[in-house]
Parts: sequence; structure tokens; C-alpha cells
Amino acid sequence: MRLSGKTALVTAAGQGIGRASVLAMAREGARVLATDVRAESLRTFDGVGNVITAPLDVLDRAQIEAVAGTLDRIDVLFNCAGYVHAGTVLDASDADFDFAVNLNVRSQFWTSRAVLPRMLEAGAGSIGNMASVAGSLRGLPNRFVYGLTKAAVIGLTKSVAADYVGRGIRCNCVCPGTVDTPSLADRINAFDDPVEARKAFIARQPMGRLAKAEEIAPLVVFLASDEAAFVTGQSYSIDGGMTI
Ligand code: NAD
Repeated sequence: MRLSGKTALVTAAGQGIGRASVLAMAREGARVLATDVRAESLRTFDGVGNVITAPLDVLDRAQIEAVAGTLDRIDVLFNCAGYVHAGTVLDASDADFDFAVNLNVRSQFWTSRAVLPRMLEAGAGSIGNMASVAGSLRGLPNRFVYGLTKAAVIGLTKSVAADYVGRGIRCNCVCPGTVDTPSLADRINAFDDPVEARKAFIARQPMGRLAKAEEIAPLVVFLASDEAAFVTGQSYSIDGGMTI
């Protein structure tokens, strides 16, 4: 199994890509600490082998340090937490901007700081960060705040990778296209005509369909595994052809 002997910490694991990634990591033999701000969402892991859970709000630095400190070792960190603000530069308030930067970027700064000292001590570790096609690789309409935060994730990823490339630490990020997750369903249902809105999301995918969260998880597993031992500082598109 590709992650045997490794211990992983995953944020925003209660649903969507985070949840699928936890299950995929556990299937590959990792011991996974699945965390989410909504403690009740973690009950779906009850009885799943190799998975332990803890509530964690990644907007709270002290909580991050406390939860990370419960693990005797951390080989893999997957920063999945993120939030989509819909709107243009003229729609975004300072509060929208600050919230998205804090959740999508500052949380990764804090979690990275919480795990890196132990990874450096061990001389090994893999950090995976959640970016997106939006903003980082494609400018998409109505994704001003979201896009800028996901572009920042790529910069954060490359900086961490460059600083520790000689010390056994790898840091990469994934850039999905549109993935059919509960929050996407919420965004679609918020439109006046959800049927048309879903069609519009599908229309921006050249394959003519949305991704499943389970289609993103294998890339997360690969980047966490020793199969990716020569891979660092990279952003991987997994987008059904959006960036062809
Ligand atoms: P989702 O948005 O459906 O679920 C997000 C999870 O994050 C929820 O379980 C929620 O409780 C948790 N969460 C929210 N605030 C939190 C906080 N402060 N601390 C900890 N957890 C918190 O899941 P998703 O759509 O799979 O998105 C996961 C990540 O993937 C996000 O970073 C998102 O930007 C990124 N992404 C999603 C898509 C997509 O189309 N769904 C595409 C590209 C990138």
C-alpha cells in the first residue's frame, strides 16, 4: 500500500474532496486524522479503519497547534479547507476579502508552521495544498476573491517547497476544475434557476461533466506518497480539460 506507515492530517475532511481524500489515504494504509470545523460531519468516519477524527477550525491558530500536537508524528498534511466567494472585484467587501484570505491561505500558513518543525526533525514530509483552476490558472468570472486566494496558494506552495527542498520536505498543490460536492450543490441551489445554473457549471467543463470528489483523491494520495518522491513545488491541474 502506497501510504503504509504514514500519518496524515487532513483539514475540511467532513465532506467533498477532503472526505474522499481521507478515505483514499486510509485505503492506502495511512493512519489519518480527519478534521473539520463541523464536528458532526466527522461521524461519517465512525468505524472506518485507520481514521481518527477531531474537530478543527482552521481559522483558529491555537486549535491547529493543539490538534497537530496530539499526533506523535506527521508525515503528510493535506490542507483542503477553502471557501468560494462569488462575485467581482466590485462585489467584494473587505470582510469577504479578509474571510477568504484567512480561510483559503492563512490557514495553510498556520498548519504548515504547526507541522514543519516535526517534519524537519524527521527529515521527511509531504504537504499538499488545495488550490483551484480558478484564479490560479484561468481567470473565471465572479471569482475575484476566490481566484486571488487560490493563486496565493500556488505561491505559498512554491515558497515552502523552495525553502525545504534539500531537507526532505515536499510541498505541492492541486488545482481541480468543477467538482460535484455539497458546497457546489449549495452554490447551484442559491441561483434563481438551479437547473440552468448546473448546466452553466457543466458547460465550463470541456468533458461535459463535473468531477467526482473521488476523482481528485487519487492525485492527493499520489502527491503524499513516496511515488512522488521527486515531485515538489508543483501545481497539478485535474480539471477535465479546462486548461487544455
Ligand atoms: P465543501 O466546500 O463541500 O466542504 C468544505 C468543508 O470545509 C466542509 O466540511 C466544511 O465544514 C469545512 N470547513 C469550512 N470552514 C472550515 C474551517 N474554518 N475549518 C475547518 N473546516 C472548515 O468541499 P469541496 O467542494 O470539496 O472543497 C474543498 C476544497 O476544494 C476547497 O478548498 C475548495 O476551494 C477546493 N476546490 C473545490 C472545487 C469544487 O468545484 N468543489 C474546485 C476546486 C477547488
